[in-house]
Amino acid sequence: MDTKQIVVLGAGESGTGAAILAQAKGMRVFVSDSGSIKPAYKALLDTHHILWEENGHTEDKVLAADEVIKSPGIPETAPLIVALRDKGVPVISEIEFAARYTDAKMICITGSNGKTTTTSLIYDMLRRAGLDVGLAGNIGNSLALQVAREDHAYYVIELSSFQLDNMYDFRADIAILLNITPDHLDRYDFEFQNYVNAKFRITRNQTERDAFIYWSEDPVIDREIARIRPRATLYPFGSKEKHNVAFTDGEHLVVAAKKEVQPLEIPLEQLALQGKHNQLNSMAASIAAQLLDIKNDTIRESLRCFAGVPHRLQYVATVKGVRYINDSKATNVNSCWYALEAMTTPTVLILGGKDKGNDYSEIDSLVLDKCHTLVFMGLHNEKLEEHFSKLGYVNGNEQPNAPKRFFSTHNLHDAVLTCADAARDGDTVLLSPCCASFDLFNSYEDRGDQFMNAVRHL
Ligand code: ADP
Repeated sequence: MDTKQIVVLGAGESGTGAAILAQAKGMRVFVSDSGSIKPAYKALLDTHHILWEENGHTEDKVLAADEVIKSPGIPETAPLIVALRDKGVPVISEIEFAARYTDAKMICITGSNGKTTTTSLIYDMLRRAGLDVGLAGNIGNSLALQVAREDHAYYVIELSSFQLDNMYDFRADIAILLNITPDHLDRYDFEFQNYVNAKFRITRNQTERDAFIYWSEDPVIDREIARIRPRATLYPFGSKEKHNVAFTDGEHLVVAAKKEVQPLEIPLEQLALQGKHNQLNSMAASIAAQLLDIKNDTIRESLRCFAGVPHRLQYVATVKGVRYINDSKATNVNSCWYALEAMTTPTVLILGGKDKGNDYSEIDSLVLDKCHTLVFMGLHNEKLEEHFSKLGYVNGNEQPNAPKRFFSTHNLHDAVLTCADAARDGDTVLLSPCCASFDLFNSYEDRGDQFMNAVRHL
């Protein structure tokens, strides 16, 4: 039989890993990237004597593939993908490919918000339990590279809808769907249902021996479950006890995924991750851990001690009695809502950046309730000024003693100094911008890092 010819499109973390795994399995591999490939990935491909090209695709070579592994960043509408589909060449994701070569148990997490947090928390629980576990998907090393180099017994995998799009035979032992709110619609023909379908691919191929963990109070998930009736065993969680295997009773988080195991109870104030959204993330993670027979004591320890993920409601420092929190990953209004909801003191909120057509009214009542000062930080703050003026906030430079003020700044240094000036002993300064970072920063990580640096220099 001829050696199988694999083409990998996109030489990022997942593509490079897939190429190395394909070669290790004896296939012929060619890597093609429409942009430039990072030096570290080039070096890795060269070390393995894998052929690659950058800044464009040689169509003949790509179309000659028996199978194509596509980076999740490349849309289905890209001309090359259309040509491959026309020719009947299978196009799959790196996760689909890598999963063929491992017998590990797969714990997969998707949702519009909370994926990284929940994935990292589950990983923490499994490690504390002493299991041989790898972290993969959108975070950590690619699954393919781990399978090629040091296969594990368990993988905790964060899956975006784009990864799920090109998964066909993959089966998750445990699948988690956190929530579904409109996102990335430009990649789904502006049809919300297409995005919903992509998310639900996480339960495709599951049998009744597999688990599907989901937030039961999400109306979209609820409706879709009634419609498609997944074959997996269902483990719903939510804020109320009714019908849920994990819930809160007002004071505790309660998790009872297995009838034969004592329910886990932990006081809400002991949770390392604070806020309603994080209670939900903690429930999802704890159900998964119980299903994997991890002891309640170990789960509880993780829930108490988990250090959190950088840039998500990350505590930075307390300076002159004021707590500073970095939530730079809040790049949409919904995640800022959850951040504000978690605030327990009067708050100075930094928001602004590249607006993606935001409707700020979603956070109006929480802002009014919790924030005496708003500090706008972006190239263009006019929309924020207009919106929050209507809510009763006045320009603090003109009326310094007003009870509800806003200040307009255009760089991080000024924003942090303005906050330090406006905040009172016992307050919190929260960076939760509702916006993308690209007007003033390279990325949300860059924005968060600069914020933390500025705070440490106060
Ligand atoms: P993702 O990986 O899905 O982007 P993250 O864990 O990185 O999610 O969290 C991104 C932002 O979303 C956080 O700043 C947080 O405020 C918010 N968030 C986290 N979990 C949830 C949830 N379960 N529901 C709604 N918002 C959430």
